[in-house]
Amino acid sequence: MENKPIATRTMYCKSCAEKKYPFSGQVFAVFGGTSQKIHLMKADHNQKKGMTPHFIYTVKKDKHFVTIHALCAIHNCGVEIIANKETGLHDLFLFTDRVKIIKLPIKDYLHFITKWRGWTGYNI
Ligand SMILES: [Zn+2]
Repeated sequence: MENKPIATRTMYCKSCAEKKYPFSGQVFAVFGGTSQKIHLMKADHNQKKGMTPHFIYTVKKDKHFVTIHALCAIHNCGVEIIANKETGLHDLFLFTDRVKIIKLPIKDYLHFITKWRGWTGYNI
């Protein structure tokens, strides 16, 4: 898995659905495509249990398929977000054993990556 995600996309997470996540006020992380940085946010809108932001990593491209890794970005699911008292910042730890490996036809991959272009909100 690469160090840096290429995007954040909302996807279904079975583990979150079982725990009835996301709940209002729940902390999650997003990777900002414009800022190229990770930001912390809080859920302020819940539509569907288990639909959560995921970090997307491109792993492998071949002629017909792209393999991506998707990691749920909800605190205590795919990531752990811990306030660092010394720095005053937050540390983000990834549960890399919880990465979902997904193989998509190139057309679907491009649709998946670009379909939210211009979308600025991260309401979940
Ligand atoms: Zn999750």
